[in-house]
Amino acid sequence: MTEATIFALASGRPPAAIAVIRLSGPAVRATVTAMTGRLPPPRRMTSTRIVDPATRTVIDHALAVWFAAPASATGEDAAEFHVHGGTAVVAAMLRCLGAQPGLRLAEPGEFTRRAFDNARLDLTQVEGLADLMAAGTETQRLQALTQATGGLRQRAERWRATILAALANSVALLDFAEEQSDVVVASDAVMAMTLRALRSDVAAHLVDSARGERVRDGLTVAVVGAPNVGKSSLFNILAGSDAAIVSPVAGTTRDPIEVALDLDGCAVTLIDTAGLRDDVADPVEREGMARARARAASAALVLHIATEPPAEPLGQVVINKIDLSGAQAGMHSGRLHVSAATGEGVEIFRNWLAAWATAALRSGDPALVTRERQRLALASLVEALDDVDHQPDPVLHAEALQAAAQSLARLTGRVGIEDVLDELYANFCIGK
Ligand code: GDP
Repeated sequence: MTEATIFALASGRPPAAIAVIRLSGPAVRATVTAMTGRLPPPRRMTSTRIVDPATRTVIDHALAVWFAAPASATGEDAAEFHVHGGTAVVAAMLRCLGAQPGLRLAEPGEFTRRAFDNARLDLTQVEGLADLMAAGTETQRLQALTQATGGLRQRAERWRATILAALANSVALLDFAEEQSDVVVASDAVMAMTLRALRSDVAAHLVDSARGERVRDGLTVAVVGAPNVGKSSLFNILAGSDAAIVSPVAGTTRDPIEVALDLDGCAVTLIDTAGLRDDVADPVEREGMARARARAASAALVLHIATEPPAEPLGQVVINKIDLSGAQAGMHSGRLHVSAATGEGVEIFRNWLAAWATAALRSGDPALVTRERQRLALASLVEALDDVDHQPDPVLHAEALQAAAQSLARLTGRVGIEDVLDELYANFCIGK
């Protein structure tokens, strides 16, 4: 065995009630035996004393469980110690584990990397796990969970089975074609229909990917309007804090220009375009402005704040300062009416925004395609399937099918994804 056995604290920073320490690799059984005095039955949480084998001193009285390969999270022998979460207990455990033969501290994401290497997870599931860790809203959590538990993987495996069957069929027909061409024509028609159905299924998921990516990234809402109409004031109210500086002087809005909101479980990023200025000297700030401006330009929704109905509405019109005009609060004539000063209509405004976000993100089941990487792999699959459909030459037909299978392999991470992997794992915590 060349593979090291890795270990790491998998739970949060001590002190805590309980600390979970994970192990994975060939030395797991020997380590658990040495530190608990015997190897408990697998997959059964066992109450045990944990001793340092070198000194025979007791480190803690705790719970231990181990899993035999390949039925573990990593696909290797794996174990967990659930010890008291004190700083010294955790330190003693990590010190003791580090001294065991064949053991070393895990790198960030290394448990997940081994799960991927041992095909316990495919790339889309690893991505789903990363999203689950990063999920800040309910919608994001649901979508990430679907992906982490194999929502896209299972679909991709079905697609792959269909393509491989078509490929086998097409190769068989190639051999057969020399003698009986009429058989070929009939079977080709059936195969073509199956592949067309597959294409439309993939295409439907591609269309839905916009929703998936929006859930992940959050919906962007740009707040636009003339100076002094109250953009920053409304922005602050929605942000639930006095994040931006509100000033009576026109055009003096300062950072932050973006705020991430959780509206009824939907992630929404609000961009205050009043804060987007050209005259900033600091290059970092300027870069931030440029990015926010690009995001605002492609915003899913524009809120046009004004004090009177604008001649040319740029999006959903929000009439502010109704305390001065005496207009009625709420939605009428297609426009929202609020007062940032008195708070009138603000609740209606917030609820309207939440309903809009919910409608935009939560139609039906969670989207399966949630990243640009996945979308590009599936777009090339659709392209390959179009080639298949338009290819009368049987040899080129089989080649196009192979290209389709290759696109799916890219999606699930079986080819050409080293750079993607390194970046992903680097974003995981140690112990994950
Ligand atoms: P922005 O330039 O569009 O971002 O506008 P600000 O939010 O900085 O507001 C400009 C001025 O209008 C400030 O003095 C605010 O206090 C005031 N203001 C904002 N909303 C209201 C409102 O609903 N009613 C009244 N009377 N004043 C408001």
